[in-house]
Amino acid sequence: MAATTSIEWTEMTWNPVTGCVKVSQGCKHCYAETMAKRLHAMGAARYSNKFAPTLHWDLVDVPRRWKKPRTVFVNSMSDLFQEDVPLEFIQAVFQTMVECPQHTFQILTKRAERLLELATSLPWPSNVWMGVSVEDSRVVDRIHYLAATPAQTKFLSCEPLIGPLEDLCLTGIDWVIVGGESGQGARPMEEVWVQSIRRQCRSARVAFFFKQWGGVRKGKNGRQLNGRTYDEMPRNRKVIPIQPAA
Ligand code: SF4
Repeated sequence: MAATTSIEWTEMTWNPVTGCVKVSQGCKHCYAETMAKRLHAMGAARYSNKFAPTLHWDLVDVPRRWKKPRTVFVNSMSDLFQEDVPLEFIQAVFQTMVECPQHTFQILTKRAERLLELATSLPWPSNVWMGVSVEDSRVVDRIHYLAATPAQTKFLSCEPLIGPLEDLCLTGIDWVIVGGESGQGARPMEEVWVQSIRRQCRSARVAFFFKQWGGVRKGKNGRQLNGRTYDEMPRNRKVIPIQPAA
């Protein structure tokens, strides 16, 4: 349940939880659901429950075994703050992150309200980056919940971006990732939406990372904007080498 990944803004994934429940339009073509079903069909033991939320207690300590510093996306196949994950489990995941300061952990949730509710029961070391997904203007409230947490590095993932995001409140936000949806049935992302977010980030001095245009043929559409790539990372962080798009 630890694997290298082609996700452009991280190095590897760690999945102590698998499976999830959809909560908003950003979940419509959930990549994790497609992957979980595929892995189940292939007989992968971790996916015997298909996409139903499943805790893997035996994987909570895995990062302790990695000596080399890594940037790790926590739960690429789930949402750590969904209701089915008890506080006790989330605390165990955070304890591993506290005790592995050599690694940088990136957590992304759509359950921003629960994140804030539990935030005071969790430690917030500097190697934990906390993010919320913001796919369109209907879910911008997630930003306020995130901003109110004690996380030291906070980020937004505007992917899949399916509508314009004007007047974003970026106070206390360190990093914004933007990306279009990919695969069959991908909903289109307009360039004006992307340019607007880029400008808002520049005015607020927030790092901007343009992940991909997406589309049915993601690789063909690439990740250039204004004839260049935008790979900015939160302050004092190194730019992660970009891996070829899958
Ligand atoms: S919250 Fe994330 S993992 Fe869960 S269903 Fe939505 S997109 Fe998939």
